[in-house]
Amino acid sequence: MKNRFLKALLAVFLCLLLFDFASGAGRRLPADTLRVAFLTDQTRIHLKCSSSFTVYDTGSGRRTRFEPEVNFVITPVGEDIMIGDRKKAGRKIQISSRDSREFLRINGRRYRGSIIILNSEGTLTAVNEINIEDYLKGVLPMEISPRWPMESVKAQAIAARTYAVNNLGKYGSRGYDLTADIYSQVYAGMEVEDPRSNRAVNETRGKVIVYKGNLARSYFHSCCGGHTEDIQKVWGSDIPYFKGVYCPFCSDSPRARWYLDLSPQDIEAHLSRHGIREIETIKLLSRTGSGRVDAMKISHAGGELEVTGHAFRMTVGPNILKSALFTIGISEGPYRFYGRGWGHGVGMCQWGARGQALEGKNFREILSYYMPGTEVRRWSY
Ligand SMILES: [Zn+2]
Repeated sequence: MKNRFLKALLAVFLCLLLFDFASGAGRRLPADTLRVAFLTDQTRIHLKCSSSFTVYDTGSGRRTRFEPEVNFVITPVGEDIMIGDRKKAGRKIQISSRDSREFLRINGRRYRGSIIILNSEGTLTAVNEINIEDYLKGVLPMEISPRWPMESVKAQAIAARTYAVNNLGKYGSRGYDLTADIYSQVYAGMEVEDPRSNRAVNETRGKVIVYKGNLARSYFHSCCGGHTEDIQKVWGSDIPYFKGVYCPFCSDSPRARWYLDLSPQDIEAHLSRHGIREIETIKLLSRTGSGRVDAMKISHAGGELEVTGHAFRMTVGPNILKSALFTIGISEGPYRFYGRGWGHGVGMCQWGARGQALEGKNFREILSYYMPGTEVRRWSY
């Protein structure tokens, strides 16, 4: 009897173990907070809080309490930091509100979590140390419209969470994980939060994109123009779930089709560091599987330059030449570029995610469409 009971118990235990393995439950994310630098090279930072707050001087270990509603100006003094005109601290301080319902205001904008101020060689850097879920609330409205269908907003929340977790420590040598600009993900703090995007973050808490049981890489862009790109054609790496897929869902994007006029002089100015002068012809030599320009040749007075469409776009400026999915019309004056989409084209097409959500697809279907073979799992912090 006792033996049977033990066997049953063992069976239940094994089932739980297998379930645990199959669902990925129990997998943990490496951290629940991250540090995002949102101001750099500052000579003055304004600080205010509606509750009293504490300044922790990480060098001396001293904590000082400040009263609410006073507007403090923080400035660098040599290698140290000055708070107001009397309180001097070392080169790194951490500021925390003493009331969890009141938030620190830096230059008039509210931030959740705490604020680290660093003196980096004579100028100040402001870093927000923040829970990853709260961070995402200040990221989502900068990436897509919170008014989009909820499943596409959730897909973006999961893609952005996966990106953030993948990039912890990216700028570790500088004292933070991520920047708040396009070199990481654009983050703008509490001021941009929206109830719908906050809901998408809350309802996908801890959910990340997984490939074969491991955290997947995460890339996305505004509009693919009809077909997403193989990552190998953009960054040279070979990742099986970024091979490019057909996407008929993003035609509502205002950048689904565009044209751009660039004079030879404009192009020469952008490419001057490559020795380009007096352009004679621009020829498109080949295209990638997605239709983007793979190789192009610029003949000019000083010789010839062969570049990829992606490199050409990055040199001209990614916000000027919206994508590498273009053709060039023959014209007498400026070159007219006819193009489709906006962005590098790798991973999830944001306008395509919106289009799929409008057709009734859920966030799992959307993400696995753009990243075949991946799945969404909830990992705990
Ligand atoms: Zn698309």
